[in-house]
Amino acid sequence: MAIGSRPPLIDPFGRAISYLRVSVTDRCDFRCVYCMSEDMAFLPKRDLLTLEELDRLCTVFVERGVRKLRITGGEPLVRRNIMSLFQALSRHLASGALDELTLTTNGSQLARYASELAQCGVKRVNVSLDTLDPAKFRQITRWGDLARVMEGLDAAQGAGLKIKINAVALKGTNEDEIEALMEWAHGRGMDLTLIEVMPLGEVETQRVDQFLPLSQVRARLMDRYTLDDLAERSGGPARYVRVRETGGILGFITPLSHNFCESCNRVRLTCTGQLFMCLGQEDVADLRTPLREGTHALLDQAIDDAIARKPKGHDFIIDRRHNRPAVARHMSMTGG
Ligand code: SAM
Ligand code: SF4
Repeated sequence: MAIGSRPPLIDPFGRAISYLRVSVTDRCDFRCVYCMSEDMAFLPKRDLLTLEELDRLCTVFVERGVRKLRITGGEPLVRRNIMSLFQALSRHLASGALDELTLTTNGSQLARYASELAQCGVKRVNVSLDTLDPAKFRQITRWGDLARVMEGLDAAQGAGLKIKINAVALKGTNEDEIEALMEWAHGRGMDLTLIEVMPLGEVETQRVDQFLPLSQVRARLMDRYTLDDLAERSGGPARYVRVRETGGILGFITPLSHNFCESCNRVRLTCTGQLFMCLGQEDVADLRTPLREGTHALLDQAIDDAIARKPKGHDFIIDRRHNRPAVARHMSMTGG
């Protein structure tokens, strides 16, 4: 059936699903302390959907009203031949069916891919960077090289991509650096979004030791800066302000101290074709079987059934008594 002739995806709470995040690999060239354990077990390659299958699945979602696709991971740019997926998906930008094709990356491969991404119609990228100190960067990412990420940022800006820096606020690690990160990002014309640590997957550190409430960060920033609330919302957990002194935009993602579920417009697809209707719940729908069994109708039905199960919200909690992950899977599996 042609684009637009099938009903859009609306969940039981009346929320239209217009945003799909797609994790194209669970692998990564970093091992960030809040995201992965040092000795992660990854999925066997044979379990992954091929890039052609990922394209077919994304296309069905676009036909059902998804207007924004975010490619993520693991590290999306370490998946072999990943540019072929961007090239394929860019046809939906050209046709007008899709408003935005974007990605979240750790930046390590951006120097290599920035101009190809721009040619595929990517306009903005989210780059995760928690510190400007090379030693601390190595400590947080375990394997990362800050200089390479910096080259990636230069290449991305050189290719005309807009950049949003995502930084996870970590107690005792980068909390004294938030202002410097913001001044640096805004000074380069990049937005900065701060993220609270979420209890996803077992890692070596106790979550309660990493958790820094953004309400505290915000209060501290307000001693020196004027934060003007912006109405702008992404249907997600971020709240944005404009910092009067720098002129830049600062976002706060506070899944723990704020509930953002009422406006949730998104679902998440894993690299094995599992659809998560909520980042903070275990419920999952298998789309790989209907995809491989071949009929469009079967896949459509599976997607409808999944969206009909989208929960009202999550219930993350981090405290001393609940020092275990709210959900067992790591962020690198569902895609951040
Ligand atoms: N590798 C890419 C990257 O780092 O941008 C994309 C995937 S990564 C899982 C997406 C985002 O999730 C990153 O910004 C990362 O900092 C964030 N993240 C990972 N684990 C997290 C956790 N437990 N709590 C909060 N954010 C987390
Ligand atoms: Fe890799 Fe991103 Fe997770 Fe860091 S946050 S380990 S870069 S997937």
